[in-house]
Amino acid sequence: DAKARGKNTCSLFEPSMREDFDRELMLRDELRRALTDGDLHVMYQPIVGLGDRRVVGVEALARWNHPRLGSVPPEVFVPVAERAGLIGDLGMSVLRRACAEFAAWAGAPGAYLSVNVSPLQLVDPQFPGQVAAALADAGLHPRRLVLEVTENVLADESEVIGTLTRLRATGVRVAIDDFGTGYASLRYLHRFPADIVKIDRTYVHEIACDPAAMRILGTLWQLFDAVGLTAVAEGIEDEDQATMLIDLGCPLGQGFHLGHPGPLAAILVPSPIR
Ligand code: C2E
Ligand code: MG
Ligand code: MG
Ligand code: MG
Repeated sequence: DAKARGKNTCSLFEPSMREDFDRELMLRDELRRALTDGDLHVMYQPIVGLGDRRVVGVEALARWNHPRLGSVPPEVFVPVAERAGLIGDLGMSVLRRACAEFAAWAGAPGAYLSVNVSPLQLVDPQFPGQVAAALADAGLHPRRLVLEVTENVLADESEVIGTLTRLRATGVRVAIDDFGTGYASLRYLHRFPADIVKIDRTYVHEIACDPAAMRILGTLWQLFDAVGLTAVAEGIEDEDQATMLIDLGCPLGQGFHLGHPGPLAAILVPSPIR
């Protein structure tokens, strides 16, 4: 390493940093190309009523299948897009495509479409107008759209609160994603301009083995009720977790046990009894 090469040798990058940097630039170029070539697509995961398993919504999840690199996970390419100033384009491309596909889907009438939004999109003054245009072009009512934001962006950014408040005035709803993993304080919860709260899967997984975690989760519903938030439990992977969540009073859930992300046409909706 640099130290071994002597005090006066200044190496800006360690070899691994150099590799990371090259990879970042490569992914940035490839992502830019994917955006213009339309190589990104969207998968949908059902959000269901835990009692009746009816599909109440679908979450749009961005997917990137690179011809050489294979499938690059959003946990890798979303941060790359954010650092490269591409997240606005990527986010709008996902939103426009999801709105169009969802509007054409007759699978679950009345269900909502949930789309993840980066904090950087929320500080763009053009964002509310772009959302309205995407909905209008797809012929989708604003009530059918939920925007998922992480709790960190809500902590104290009045700019973001203003943007979300304006969007909610048009009928678009807001979900706090990954609740419990960020800085959200109970002090702020009632001020969040939100309709839905998504409990992070780390909590959902803890309740199975940790009675204290279960008791904490059990008390949260009252709090959510008090501030008008509907809860969705994320990452439900087996029936035991689903049963425990029902017993705790959680109305909605999402997870591999209830349906994997896939094309809209693959979402199985119970056929109506004739
Ligand atoms: P998220 O919004 O919390 O989405 C849920 C993630 O959990 C998805 O991962 C989903 O595939 C995964 N998941 C669902 N059920 C289960 C389960 O039962 N067990 C486990 N272990 N995982 C489950 P995915 O699709 O890889 O997305 C990861 C994150 O990337 C998302 O987390 C979201 O923060 C971000 N993301 C995805 N698409 C977009 C997008 O279009 N825009 C933005 N800004 N972020 C996106
Ligand atoms: Mg999400
Ligand atoms: Mg989440
Ligand atoms: Mg998550």
